[in-house]
Amino acid sequence: MNKIEHIGIAVKDLSSSIPLYELLLNTPCYKTEEVETEKVRTAFFSVGDSKIELLESTDPSGVIARYIDKKGEGVHHIAFAVEDIRAEMARLQAAGFELLSAEPKPGADNKLVCFLHPKGTNGVLVELCEEVKGER
Ligand code: ZN
Repeated sequence: MNKIEHIGIAVKDLSSSIPLYELLLNTPCYKTEEVETEKVRTAFFSVGDSKIELLESTDPSGVIARYIDKKGEGVHHIAFAVEDIRAEMARLQAAGFELLSAEPKPGADNKLVCFLHPKGTNGVLVELCEEVKGER
C-alpha cells in the first residue's frame, strides 16, 4: 500500500462541518460529491499528500446514518492508496482478511474502492482505493 489516501469522517451535517473543517485545516473544501450507491454526500479537503473526506448520509437507512446512530460522529474509515486494487484484494483475501465486496466498486473522487471488514482489522474499517486514470 502506498500511503494514507484519506481519512473518512462521519458527520451529521455537511453544511456546518465543511466550514468547520475549512477553519480547522485552513484550506477550502475542493470538491463535494454524492455517491448514490453508498447513500452518502462527501466533501474533500487536501492535507499535504492526503485528504480528509467528510461523509454525510443522504438516507436515514444508509451506512453513515446507521454508524452515527450507533457510535456518533467521528472517524469512520482509513483509506490506503493501492496501485492495483484487484491484486491487493486477492493478496488480502488469501491472507485471511474479509472483503466487504467481491469486486471493486466506484467510489467518490474518481476511485475504485473496496472495504475490509473491521472485525479482522482491530475494529478499523479499512478502504483500499485505486485512482481511476484517464477518466474525468
Ligand atoms: Zn473513503
